[in-house]
Amino acid sequence: LIHRQLPAGLYSTEASVTKDDSTPDLKDDNGFKGHDMLAPFTAGWQTTDTNPLIIEKSEGSYVYDINGNKYLDSLAGLWCTALGGNEPRLVAAATAQLNTLPFYHSFWNRTTKPSLDLARDLLETFTARKMAKVFFTNSGSEANDTQVKLVWYYNNALGRPSKKKFIARSKSYHGSTLIAASLSGLPALHQKFDLPAPFVLHTDCPHYWRYHLPGETEEEFSTRLAENLENLILKEGPETIAAFIAEPVMGAGGVIPPPATYFDKVQAVVKKYDILFIADEVICAFGRLGTMFGCEKYNIKPDLVSVAKALSSGYLPIGAVIVSPEIADVIYSQSNKLGSFSHGFTYSGHPVACAVAIEALKIYKERNILDHVNSIAPKFQDGLKAFSDSPIIGEIRGTGLILGTEFANNKSPEDPFPAEWGVGAYFGQKCQENGLLVRVAGDNIMMSPPFIFKPEEVDELISIYGKALKATEERVA
Ligand code: PLP
Repeated sequence: LIHRQLPAGLYSTEASVTKDDSTPDLKDDNGFKGHDMLAPFTAGWQTTDTNPLIIEKSEGSYVYDINGNKYLDSLAGLWCTALGGNEPRLVAAATAQLNTLPFYHSFWNRTTKPSLDLARDLLETFTARKMAKVFFTNSGSEANDTQVKLVWYYNNALGRPSKKKFIARSKSYHGSTLIAASLSGLPALHQKFDLPAPFVLHTDCPHYWRYHLPGETEEEFSTRLAENLENLILKEGPETIAAFIAEPVMGAGGVIPPPATYFDKVQAVVKKYDILFIADEVICAFGRLGTMFGCEKYNIKPDLVSVAKALSSGYLPIGAVIVSPEIADVIYSQSNKLGSFSHGFTYSGHPVACAVAIEALKIYKERNILDHVNSIAPKFQDGLKAFSDSPIIGEIRGTGLILGTEFANNKSPEDPFPAEWGVGAYFGQKCQENGLLVRVAGDNIMMSPPFIFKPEEVDELISIYGKALKATEERVA
């Protein structure tokens, strides 16, 4: 390919821009240029961010900005609005609870019925193995921070004070609080934050296309990664390693489904050294992969599970940790010794969030959401994977209703486009101009539409994706 340089910075979401850089005078439609919010994962003075897209209304799989422009929301908010943007039953559940009991806490053996009901419903819904207890948080990050505290508390109770290290994977995303960001394997979450914390180790990212050796099959690749994991455990000392944490399908790291046999092999390794397995199901749970949990799809038998996002279809903040009977028993006996289990948040088990989550789980079951996801997923996956031949696409990957596109030169993971060309950002911009919102991270494009996605919406998504791809090919080639 012969490349034409894209305007530096203009389309790049990754460009490193310092405070001293002058900001081009872009059009400011809505009077929010240089707004007052310190926005998450945003460079406030970066050219692309000075004029934010302000979303005002949602309806099914669509959102509208404050100028009335309509967009197909291919990321379901942030991988979360599983039932779309205006599910009246969720609103009714929240309203009814707000009118009865807007808040009460769950500390000191006081609690509310919605939190107890939701804990029971979650245990019934999780069938990959028998679990015993649920701890509520407000987010996925808090769920993963809670995981670390539970595991440390558990090992202290068992008289294993040195078994404290965590192994996570490169390119994983587990959240952005101090501990969750440490577990995450994305350099941007560590740089300039003095992270990761020293108890966190990172092992290989299981991305076959990018990291397999010449001639290596997926199964052989998985074997090699499991051996690397075992070598890391042996090097550190198994008596120092407490837990391994993994997303069934890696999400924010670029949508990376596991290679064949990967989870069988890593589970065997961690089991061998008495290391707990934590499944971070924050994106995968409740139907995204066509199964209720990623654990079912990949035959994972976890000790602990993190959920959030689709638990309430994103309507209110709530997350949870699902705990195995073995761990729950130890925690109970330890907390009885100490007088309490001193961990929790004011809003752990918030009754309104729980009421919405109870209703969301009910809707998933009543509407056979798994059947719907499984009926729509092939159209979504096959329709988009048909673009794999594009000369600027390295790989399109995904399963169920989650899909990633990675741009690369010569179809090779060894040959990325220069970051300053902003190829992914240009594609994202073209999607947006045509009425489709996608997640752009460098040259990775991610999508995870609502579970209620309709066939005609898949058609629309594919058509806009095709247009944006053509424009990007013309720009680059
Ligand atoms: N874990 C995974 C797998 C996630 O994708 C995310 C968020 O995207 C989190 C944890 C963090 O969740 P939250 O943003 O609710 O803290």
